[in-house]
Amino acid sequence: MSVLVLVEPGEELSLQAISLARDLGGPLHALTVGEAGTELGAYGVETLHTVLDDRLGAYAPAAWAACLEQLIDRVQPDAVVAAGTNRGNEVLGHLAARRDLPFAANCIAVGSDGSVTRVRWGGSLLEEARIHGDLKLLTVAPHMVEASTVNGGTATVETLEPDLADADLVVRVVEHAETPTAGISLAEAKVVVSGGRGVGSADGFGMLEELAGLLNAAVGCSRVVTMAGWRPHTDQVGQTGTKVAPDLYIACGISGATQHIAGCKGAKTIVAINDDEGAPMLAHADYAVIGDLHAIVPAISAELRRVRSG
Ligand SMILES: Cc1cc2nc3c(=O)[nH]c(=O)nc-3n(C[C@H](O)[C@H](O)[C@H](O)COP(=O)(O)OP(=O)(O)OC[C@H]3O[C@@H](n4cnc5c(N)ncnc54)[C@H](O)[C@@H]3O)c2cc1C
Repeated sequence: MSVLVLVEPGEELSLQAISLARDLGGPLHALTVGEAGTELGAYGVETLHTVLDDRLGAYAPAAWAACLEQLIDRVQPDAVVAAGTNRGNEVLGHLAARRDLPFAANCIAVGSDGSVTRVRWGGSLLEEARIHGDLKLLTVAPHMVEASTVNGGTATVETLEPDLADADLVVRVVEHAETPTAGISLAEAKVVVSGGRGVGSADGFGMLEELAGLLNAAVGCSRVVTMAGWRPHTDQVGQTGTKVAPDLYIACGISGATQHIAGCKGAKTIVAINDDEGAPMLAHADYAVIGDLHAIVPAISAELRRVRSG
């Protein structure tokens, strides 16, 4: 048994994927498109295959899948594992289509016999399943597995020079535009101040921005907010938005629908600010402040400023 892991450069979730992949047993190979360090050896990777090819730009889903396919032919793994990121799921989806194989997304546990436990329906249920097929394809649900090192050494680096068809390069990232909220990325922020319908308007987010600034936090929101056009979709937290796992998540005027909780339940501490003490969000919160967020949020900011100036 050997296992091949797709590693996205700089992506912490890839380290979580490697950690789960170890449970499959056997030597670990990793593929990375772009620069990646030999420190992956500390996570148990024995051989790191790198592709350095300008044609791939920052990301090219079909081309990444083609690279995986060529490496599969070379190392003959029993399983291919990736992080359950947008990219990881997309690339393994391509690979599954190219090889006509089943693919299990969002796994949290795997057995060498192909049995998996995976997160379904936005986190509201766990499914026990078995992946059929000689080559098992799976992604690892974000923030459900701890990234842990082993007594590994330094990974041996080998270069892969892929043979790519024009069709593999039709979709690729050629430019990266910074969003206005860039600076602290929502997915990686240690503190997230998030707003829902209760914020009332796009302008209402001004007070959340202010609090976020004081806490060195990112601003997030619910889908109602993005649907209303108050915030861009990149700010949305949830099943169809970004999944976050900050130390602190402050939910202001968010009811706590399952699809929203799917995106924030990895937070270590949740504070809910809501004027309805029966809101479902409170069942997920460690602390709750019941009342009008338009009074509470500015009061927290004022208190932070007062404490810091003293
Ligand atoms: C397929 C699918 C995918 C979805 N994906 C997502 C997703 O990724 N993310 C997501 O968020 N949703 C998602 N949704 C939508 C989700 O079901 C909810 O509709 C949405 O999360 C509700 O947003 P909300 O909490 O802002 O609004 P509401 O449910 O309307 O809640 C507003 C809350 O604000 C409180 N409130 C109102 N005024 C104040 C005030 N002045 N002070 C304090 N509190 C106040 C209210 O008591 C209430 O609890 C999805 C839905 C579907 C069907």
